Amino acid sequence: MDNTPTLERPAPARRVHESFIPELVYFEPASLDYPKGRQIMDWVKSLDIPYQMTTSHNRITNLPGDTELEQYKIAKRTLVVGIRKTLKFDTSKPSAEYAIPIATGCMGHCHYCYLQTTLGAKPYIRVYVNMDDILEAAKGYIDERKPEITRFEAACTSDPVGLEPITGSLKELIAFMAEQEYGRLRFVTKFHYVDSLLDIKHNGHTRIRFSVNAKYVIKHFEPSTSPFEKRIEAAAKIAGAGYPLGFIIAPIIWHEGWQDGYAELLAELARALPKEASSNLTFELIQHRFTKTAKNVIEKRYPRTKLEMDIEKRKYKWGRWGQGKYVYPDEQAEALRMFISERIFDHFADAKIEYFT
Ligand code: SF4
Repeated sequence: MDNTPTLERPAPARRVHESFIPELVYFEPASLDYPKGRQIMDWVKSLDIPYQMTTSHNRITNLPGDTELEQYKIAKRTLVVGIRKTLKFDTSKPSAEYAIPIATGCMGHCHYCYLQTTLGAKPYIRVYVNMDDILEAAKGYIDERKPEITRFEAACTSDPVGLEPITGSLKELIAFMAEQEYGRLRFVTKFHYVDSLLDIKHNGHTRIRFSVNAKYVIKHFEPSTSPFEKRIEAAAKIAGAGYPLGFIIAPIIWHEGWQDGYAELLAELARALPKEASSNLTFELIQHRFTKTAKNVIEKRYPRTKLEMDIEKRKYKWGRWGQGKYVYPDEQAEALRMFISERIFDHFADAKIEYFT
């Protein structure tokens, strides 16, 4: 039987929604046994979004689209609501001890995103509704390590803020972590949907970081994410709500005029942020890197990309899991690190640079 879903229903007359609205939604039947699953179903019905049931969130094989590229684009607008069965968390160095799995996949179209390769043939967006199981597993990891602090990264396989208007899962995670003496949460985002997080009790246990970049990088390589100004506005709100705040500048890309681009970025951050944001501010710096596999996938999915991936111009760095990465040669990497670090300290004398990699 051909189960290929069609998008033949007339497109619903949608109000102007700022946040992501999928074009197609799949539910695992058991997800409707959970309040979050039912709440998402009500939302889907209220917007008249086509939906189907599926036996497993790992086996969505019949997406519409005649070519691989069309299917990829549709996958990026497809939401799958399921149960997280694997409750063994991956490690997440250097930013945290563990990755906490609340979602997999993202609606953004960043050309350089590592999800292009790590999600392979499953680029659709999966959200998990069994939060109690996930929180219980997190508690187990915290207990195992105490009195050491255990940090969880919620953005290893997704951009959870992009999905927050649909799931509300970050809100639950933040509230849970507020009560954990030895647990901390962190996540990074390129989206600005933070309003629902502003009035919850966080106890300073969650650090929210915004991914920012030079204008050139945002303009050419980050389609379908929030504009820079919106991200900064959201960062200011987060600082105002007393959360520890951070910025990830990634990927740092060597491009014509990069010095001006990164200098302007730091100057704009300093202009836009309220005074209280500069205390306890962190920066993480990640230079652009790619694997051979990623280069092939990116060139297929974004054939006109301006992303420079010339292995002749790069340094090969052996990878722990077999496949090595191409990074900038030492001299260029050092120039990027030095220049950006200096600009950071010019504007934010008390900030901490957590790492450059
Ligand atoms: S927003 Fe983040 S997770 Fe989403 S595509 Fe861009 S880099 Fe990837």
